Amino acid sequence: MTDIESKKEFTGETIWLVVGVLFCFPFAIYYYFANKEQVWVCPECRESITVGAGTCKHCGTDLSEYTGDDEESASVDD
Ligand SMILES: [Zn+2]
Repeated sequence: MTDIESKKEFTGETIWLVVGVLFCFPFAIYYYFANKEQVWVCPECRESITVGAGTCKHCGTDLSEYTGDDEESASVDD
C-alpha cells in the first residue's frame, strides 16, 4: 500500500500575515505558527488536503487506497 504524503503547512489567511509583518512582526510570527497544521498531499494533484479526508477536494481522487482504514494490520492473512 502506498502511504499518503503529509506535511506541515500554513493554513491561515495570508492577509493577516502581511498585516502582521507591516504593523506588528511578532504577531505575524505567532499567527504563522499558530496556523501551521498537518496536511496531506494529494498523490494525484499535489495539492494539500485536510488530514482524514476521504477524497481530494481539488481533483476528487479517492484517498482511501492511500490512507488505509485498517492501520497496522499488514500480517493478517489466515
Ligand atoms: Zn487531488
